[in-house]
Amino acid sequence: MADATNAREILDVLRALQALDNEIREVVVERDEVRSNLERLQVVLSHMDKEVDDKRGKLTEAERWYTAKNKELEDDREKLTRSKSRLGGVTKSKEYMAVQREMDTLRKSIGTREEEVLKLLSAIEEFRSAIQVEEQKIGDLRSEARSEETAKLTRLDEMEKTIAAVKGQRDVLLGRLPPRYAKQYETIYRGRAGVVVVPVSGEACSGCHIHLQPRMISVLIHGETVETCPQCNRFVYVQTSINPPSEGGGVRVD
Ligand SMILES: [Zn+2]
Repeated sequence: MADATNAREILDVLRALQALDNEIREVVVERDEVRSNLERLQVVLSHMDKEVDDKRGKLTEAERWYTAKNKELEDDREKLTRSKSRLGGVTKSKEYMAVQREMDTLRKSIGTREEEVLKLLSAIEEFRSAIQVEEQKIGDLRSEARSEETAKLTRLDEMEKTIAAVKGQRDVLLGRLPPRYAKQYETIYRGRAGVVVVPVSGEACSGCHIHLQPRMISVLIHGETVETCPQCNRFVYVQTSINPPSEGGGVRVD
């Protein structure tokens, strides 16, 4: 493709560049969305992992309590057995009463501890089944996430290729411009969030909405010079449609 030399050709190239940059921006927005969706999914999964870990910790604690309480229960039972056998050898009634009282206390304590142990057993059961349910859920979600990820990574790959291809075309277009316009385009691109070339709309710059002088409008309609907005410095043009330069390169006023 030939270098753009006159104002019309330069403006054609500038507008084609803007169209390409819009295309890149759209793909980049979509790509970033896909990426952040993937990241969100990972966050949800790690949150779920953390929750199930908490439950595992509580289960371990309940199991530890269960072991301790069960040991206490067994100790009390043993003591009760010992008291029972002692009772047979007791002759004094005072001592007999004392052992009886001791046995009553032990029986009460055994009753309480049995309740505690039962409660702990049912808590352990609850934790175990909750953990099982959650592990199942996490497993399902993880495999769903994996296939989602595979699909999205393929899509991301395609998008990166598109971006690279369009950037290649962009370099070709930039190369066709006289260097000072290429430089100016890039400067405005950075300073104006990628909106560089804008049409006049209702006698105003559609980039910053400043009203343009009639003389400026008439200069723009003549199209013999490349003009920029006096306020936002963007390239401005009157609404026309570009014919691809390969098809003769004319500019038509709509
Ligand atoms: Zn402007």
